Amino acid sequence: EPAAGPKRTSRVRVAVRLRPYMDKQDDKGEGPCVRGLDSHRLEIVNWRNATETLHYDFDMFHDEKSTQKEVFVESVKPVLPHILNGQNASVFAYGPTGAGKTHTMLGSQEQPGMIPRAVREVFHLVRAQEAKEDGWEYAISMSYLEIYNEKVLDLLCPSTQDLPIREDKDHNILIPGLTTTPLASFSEFDTQFIPASLNRTTASTKLNQRSSRSHAILLIKVVRTRRVHPHRQQTGKLYLVDLAGSEDNRRTGNQGIRLKESGAINLSLFTLSKVVDALNGAAGGRVPYRDSKLTRLLQDSLGGSAHSVMITNVAPEYSYYFDTFTALNFAAKSKQI
Ligand code: ADP
Ligand code: MG
Repeated sequence: EPAAGPKRTSRVRVAVRLRPYMDKQDDKGEGPCVRGLDSHRLEIVNWRNATETLHYDFDMFHDEKSTQKEVFVESVKPVLPHILNGQNASVFAYGPTGAGKTHTMLGSQEQPGMIPRAVREVFHLVRAQEAKEDGWEYAISMSYLEIYNEKVLDLLCPSTQDLPIREDKDHNILIPGLTTTPLASFSEFDTQFIPASLNRTTASTKLNQRSSRSHAILLIKVVRTRRVHPHRQQTGKLYLVDLAGSEDNRRTGNQGIRLKESGAINLSLFTLSKVVDALNGAAGGRVPYRDSKLTRLLQDSLGGSAHSVMITNVAPEYSYYFDTFTALNFAAKSKQI
């Protein structure tokens, strides 16, 4: 398999965000089992010996007091300028259900998350660039899709069936038939996307359950066109991904549809971990993009010249201990050079 895109092989930056302690109902008086140490490190109680802690080190650690703005400025904002130059970027939230992925990516009206902040910033960067240089025009658009049971579904056109994923001769990943909605301004995005999306994640328990078992993927595309001689066109893509919950889906003894969902989630998250490991560590190793729809779709926005950041969300309660431990090991491994 040829290497995708330009030579620079990108590393996926790894950030961890700890949400506040809030397990009021289930509180057995145990308190948190995870604690931040500084802006790169945290400690978790050692299960085998509660008087000891295990330490983990990341590119960035955001503690339970971190604001949406801080997470955005430190972990997300730096990747955005690249999409104006025809490069790709991806930001994805990983971690067990209940640890804060949707809060981080989407947030609320009062505390907007990475998605609204990133789109606002993309408009800001484009307007600033338009004012600075002559002859180039920019067009911003969005697509919104979901990967559920290894099927690619268009959330802007819910009647579509499983969409195909294709690769062109320049190793760009394409999804023929996917709805692309032009965006004239941030407020257009704010009024179209945000309510629909909040609706999807909070409307009903059934939908909410499904949303934690599928990968929700927002694609923001910036097409840059030179109208005067010499004519040129470049496309930069930004993927903003709220991944399915990383909790151990086998442990719960799922059956039927749940078992099928679990298989699909395990496959895609396991493949994602292998892809991230291959990009960050094993030089020359095969990057197994094709082993899942998620990694196939993100192929041109993870490797090559892409800029990506994985925000691993973790919860401090003991009830999350094993899922937290698994998520931290994935994140810590991903950080190794
Ligand atoms: P996930 O999407 O990973 O399942 P959620 O984002 O839905 O998790 O978070 C679970 C709960 O915790 C929600 O009620 C959310 O508002 C809250 N929460 C998560 N992260 C934070 C945070 N950093 N600050 C305050 N509340 C948070
Ligand atoms: Mg969620």
